[in-house]
Amino acid sequence: MRIDLHTHSLVSDGTDTPAEVLTAAVAAGLDVVALTDHDTTDGWAAVAAARPPGLTVVPGMEMSCRWFPADESPISVHLLAYLFDPHAPELAAERGRLRAERLTRGERMVDALAADGHPVSWAAVVERSGGGVVGRPHVARALVQAGVVGSVDEAFAGLLHHTSPYYVAKADTDVLEGIAMVRAAGGVPVFAHGLARSRGRVVGDDALGAMAAAGLLGLEVDHPDHEPADRAHLRTLAADLDLLTTGSSDYHGTNKRTPIAACTTDPAQYERLVALGTGNHPMADGA
Ligand code: AMP
Ligand code: FE
Ligand code: FE
Ligand code: ZN
Repeated sequence: MRIDLHTHSLVSDGTDTPAEVLTAAVAAGLDVVALTDHDTTDGWAAVAAARPPGLTVVPGMEMSCRWFPADESPISVHLLAYLFDPHAPELAAERGRLRAERLTRGERMVDALAADGHPVSWAAVVERSGGGVVGRPHVARALVQAGVVGSVDEAFAGLLHHTSPYYVAKADTDVLEGIAMVRAAGGVPVFAHGLARSRGRVVGDDALGAMAAAGLLGLEVDHPDHEPADRAHLRTLAADLDLLTTGSSDYHGTNKRTPIAACTTDPAQYERLVALGTGNHPMADGA
C-alpha cells in the first residue's frame, strides 16, 4: 500500500483540480491519498465524484494555526485534520474565519506592493484564485505573470518572505484550540511539517508536548522540507508521546516542485489514523 496524506488542489493553493490530484495519485501508484486544502473542505465533493475504483481518498484539511511561545512572537504552524465531521459547527465557523482572514491579509499585501509600483492588483489575484482560499502562492504567481520576479520561489524568497516589509501575518487559530476543535468534530489532528526550518522559525519540543497534552494524535515526520536528523528526532518524540507518524508529499501541483507521493505513510500508521477518526470515513470502494 502506498499512502500520501497531504495534497492541495486549486480549491486552495495547488494548481490541479481535485479530480486531477486523483489522476496524479493513480499515475504515481498510490492506493490512498488525502486531499488537505488549506482551511476548506470545498474540494471534498469533487473528489468524491471523481474517485476512480481502487483509490481510497481521505477527506482532510490543513488548518492555519499559531503557536504562542512564552516570550517570543507567535510562530505560524499548520495542523492537518483528517476524518472530521464537516458540519461540526465550531470547526466550520473557524474555517470560515480563517478564509476571511486570508482575504483581508492578501488584499493588504497586494495593495502595499501596488502602492510601491509593482503591477499587481487584488482583483486579478482573487479572480485567478477562484475567490476561495487565497494565499501567498496566488500573489506569487501574479508577481511572476507581471514580470516582477522570475519564479514563485523567487517571490517567496524576497517580496513575500515573512521578513519582507510587504509580509502581513494572519490571525490564525491558536493551535491548541485548533486541536480541540478537530477532536470535537471527531477528527484526527496531525501536526504538519513541524521542523520545516526553511520556512522560518519552528517550534520546540515543549510545544509538541503541549499539543500532545491538548489532544494531538500524530506528527507528520516524512515531509520534503524535513532534514534526516529532524525526521529522526520527530520519530523519537512521536514514540515518547504515543503519537502516530505520517509521511506525505505536500503536493501543490506546479506551484511547488515536489511530486505527489514524494514521501509516504506506513500502512500500520494509516490504519491507526483511520481507527481514530470518528467524524467521517475514507472514501473507498464499497464504503
Ligand atoms: P500563506 O498561507 O498565504 O502564508 O502561504 C503559505 C503557503 O505557501 C503554504 O501553503 C506553502 O506551502 C506555500 N509555499 C511556501 N513556500 C513556497 C514556495 N517557495 N513556492 C510555492 N509555495 C510555497
Ligand atoms: Fe499551500
Ligand atoms: Fe503546510
Ligand atoms: Zn500543505
